[in-house]
Amino acid sequence: MNNKYKILLVEDEKNIQTFVSALLEANGYKVLIANDCASGKIMYSSHIPDLVILDLGLPDRDGSVLLAYIRQNDLTPIIVLSARSDENEKVKMLDAGANDYVTKPFGTAELLARVRACLRNRRQSSSKTGALTGIFTAKDLEIRYESRRVFIRGEEIKLTQTEYNILTYLSENADKVMTYSAIISAVWRETPNEGNIKRLQVNMANMRKKFGTKPGDITFIINELGVGYRLVADN
Ligand code: CA
Repeated sequence: MNNKYKILLVEDEKNIQTFVSALLEANGYKVLIANDCASGKIMYSSHIPDLVILDLGLPDRDGSVLLAYIRQNDLTPIIVLSARSDENEKVKMLDAGANDYVTKPFGTAELLARVRACLRNRRQSSSKTGALTGIFTAKDLEIRYESRRVFIRGEEIKLTQTEYNILTYLSENADKVMTYSAIISAVWRETPNEGNIKRLQVNMANMRKKFGTKPGDITFIINELGVGYRLVADN
């Protein structure tokens, strides 16, 4: 098989290298391994992988250096692996261009789902220009872009203009965590502050009520606490 996705794993911990590469290979991916930032850079340039899984705590430089290097030229999806559960760190990485993050320790199902989601987005990301057309569906949700109408299990839900704009922005970036700052600058063209983050949260809460889901219910919009929101297209 030469149509396998190539994944570059940049990680210095041997047990995680072994565990993650065995997991990915068992699921049909080809895995390349780099032990530090410098060799990650070389492997990236010589192999052009389809996806990068990047540890932040590397022996030579911080993983964010490699993230910045890749983002200078490429949109290759990057999943950050981090032992840090600090929300600010996650936000910083997402705003610097990481597609997603996984906090150690992580489950195999979680990592595989994030990998699939990133590779799926990669295939769609070339068609982002112009007005949205067609129909978006995720679980019970249906968005008809041309008529700007939203349905839950076939029943129309009346959203405000702002709610609709937030929802379509999340749908355009389905499966990806969108930070408060990304949503606020897309929807209101403002830099985030306490006031507009609150406004965003109120809009999200109102939308949830209209959709008939309580916070904490399993739903298609996941609140990544302290970080942002993710619309889940598929599990
Ligand atoms: Ca490490």
